[in-house]
Amino acid sequence: MSEVLLEVKGLKQHYSIDQGWLKEKKYVKAVDGIDFKVIKGETFSLVGESGCGKSSTGRTILRLNEATDGEIIFEGQNIVELSYRKMRKFRKKMQMIFQDPFASLNPKKTVRQILMEPLRVHNYYSAEERLNKVIKILEIVGLSQYHLDRYPHEFSGGQRQRIGIAKAAILNPELIIADEPVSALDVSIQSQVINLLLKLQEELGLTYIFISHDLGVVRHISDRVAVMYLGKIVEISNTEELYNNPLHPYTKALMSSVPIDHPEEVKERIILTGDVPNAVNPPSGCAFHPRCPFAMDICKNVNPVPTENPNGHTVSCHLYE
Ligand code: SF4
Repeated sequence: MSEVLLEVKGLKQHYSIDQGWLKEKKYVKAVDGIDFKVIKGETFSLVGESGCGKSSTGRTILRLNEATDGEIIFEGQNIVELSYRKMRKFRKKMQMIFQDPFASLNPKKTVRQILMEPLRVHNYYSAEERLNKVIKILEIVGLSQYHLDRYPHEFSGGQRQRIGIAKAAILNPELIIADEPVSALDVSIQSQVINLLLKLQEELGLTYIFISHDLGVVRHISDRVAVMYLGKIVEISNTEELYNNPLHPYTKALMSSVPIDHPEEVKERIILTGDVPNAVNPPSGCAFHPRCPFAMDICKNVNPVPTENPNGHTVSCHLYE
């Protein structure tokens, strides 16, 4: 039986909007009650349009933003309720790769200082052992000892992301959350970085939560995929099942925009009308109903519940209840 590394239950991330003390407080419901499990050793991806809540989910799991509600169970422990001191033990097991490596690396520090820091903070090894560990991780990510005393601005975008990956991996974490790790890179570099992530996963036994809007990249790297729309998960499935047999009308529209693999393949493009609604005041019932070509009366008032089919494919839509 597969071992569950992380379980998220009823997770909410509502950001308050300051409108002045006389006005009623309003909230952006960036994440609005989501549930999923991540199996040890897999790549679990979160996809959806920008603003759907996928990055907020990643940041909330790492407690970079505190959850409004819900549970984050990592290795059997609900980490939401841990004090800052107790959370330290889990911090080194859960790391993040950011979209913009330039912004996430301190420009005033050399690669040596950047990579030594996490080892020093967590009191790992002697100074000599730390240096050996830094050199080893640099080699694993395709850089070398020669780069130790350079600053982030002296590297290309792809090399900077390799340093960001080394920084995330140096503490031997269990889980890495990669938030759009290749979307700021040239297409030619993207596949090198994706292949590096796959190689690291195999060598270090890592588990990934991969956050992306790029469905081509997601198909290549993921074992399972969750589709998010306006703060909720609308569909979860293993990757091939989702790409071959999308069920939710929103997923179908997203999939119809993926370029075809074969010149003889015919694919009908589904163009969604209207914009993503405001997360401060999401539509009632199914939040997708104002844009859904299959919307029924019930969709306007009743929120669909997740339904799982025999293939382990879960969808939240009244068409399948
Ligand atoms: Fe469309 Fe209704 Fe399904 Fe929502 S519940 S996706 S509105 S059919």
